[in-house]
Amino acid sequence: MASEDVGDTSSDFLAGNRSSGAGMQPSRRLEPNPSEGLMAGVEYGVIRESLIAQFRKGRVSKRDICDAHPELLRAARNIGRPSAESCPICQDGHMVHVTYAFGNGLPSGGRCVTDSSDIARLKVRIHGGQVACYVIEVCPGCAWNHLIRLVWA
Ligand SMILES: [Zn+2]
Repeated sequence: MASEDVGDTSSDFLAGNRSSGAGMQPSRRLEPNPSEGLMAGVEYGVIRESLIAQFRKGRVSKRDICDAHPELLRAARNIGRPSAESCPICQDGHMVHVTYAFGNGLPSGGRCVTDSSDIARLKVRIHGGQVACYVIEVCPGCAWNHLIRLVWA
């Protein structure tokens, strides 16, 4: 089914994210939550935690994991939604979430969305097709970035 075929629509920062390689198993499946306009999705928290633990043990360097693509950093600074969490790497706070939507009829590199009304507009434009929303947390300070959630809308 083509509408779920988001694997081919790579953008540099998603394809290049070291968390997207082998072993990229979702941590937890999300149940659909129609009241929030969300369909099912997956969380990637366990992968994130293990990467942070590796960093704290000195097994991966800051350079290896604080590698946000310039486009992603720009999106984070301009339209990122503030996160309640402080950066796990530089501890300097000010993390933001950036969401990219993928789907049939959308740009192959994804489309940045800021809220559910953006997603609703995209869905109208692609005639109600399914949209896969990749939520990435980004620290604009040190360039830490990680996929935290994939939600279908
Ligand atoms: Zn940071």
